[in-house]
Amino acid sequence: VAGVHFVATPIGAARDITLRALDILASADVLAAEDTRTLRHLMEIHGIPVNSRPLVALHDHSGEGVITRLMATIAEGKSVAYASEAGTPLISDPGFELARAAIGAGHPVLAAPGPSAVLAALTVSGLPSDRFLFAGFPPSSGAARGTFLAGIARQEATVILYESPKRLNKLLGELADHIEETRQVVICRELTKRFEETLRGTLAELRIELEDREVKGEIVVLIGRAPDRPAAAEDLDTALRNAMR
Ligand code: SAM
Repeated sequence: VAGVHFVATPIGAARDITLRALDILASADVLAAEDTRTLRHLMEIHGIPVNSRPLVALHDHSGEGVITRLMATIAEGKSVAYASEAGTPLISDPGFELARAAIGAGHPVLAAPGPSAVLAALTVSGLPSDRFLFAGFPPSSGAARGTFLAGIARQEATVILYESPKRLNKLLGELADHIEETRQVVICRELTKRFEETLRGTLAELRIELEDREVKGEIVVLIGRAPDRPAAAEDLDTALRNAMR
């Protein structure tokens, strides 16, 4: 189909790609990727030749020219498959500008859904999954980071963050300034990969466990939702008293 196809790719295990994603990569007129080498390698693993098809780089620093050219290609009736470096495009990865441009030009925008660290982490976390907020990467420093973390503390939903492993201990320390030490926290490391590991506990427990340990690899941090607000408890109290009158 002429249009943009967003193709989800593995976050670790190379076989975590859907059959439909492979079909789209095999048949698209133009291939576009955040990292062309990564896509080429993935296609090689699955025996899909690039052949003479264009393989275009499209990342945060590509500039508007690439998107304009891709729009012209689609206008000629061609299909473009876009893959980010890993997981689902647009999820803390490029793709948003491409989607907006295609929608703006009236072209079809389609997804070949698949892996994403956010959902894999939520799945194994053991935290309530009925309501969650994916907040992406916290600002790396400064006042913006504090504001971001304060906002997270108030969420009545499981909060899911991506963070660099070298900032993990700093993050846990900063979280203690905003949330109760008894709040459940889960850290998922290297999901679907050889050294996959999930650490679960209260914020206090994980701070102690990780104090002298350097966590390596890719990580997702999940924070259990805020306990019921005192206001809600007061409401219940009033309701009960009124009922007993
Ligand atoms: N688009 C990707 C997705 O759908 O999950 C996310 C890309 S973002 C640039 C990379 C971050 O995702 C990493 O820093 C880490 O927080 C998280 N991540 C990606 N793969 C992971 C894995 N296998 N295990 C744990 N976290 C992972």
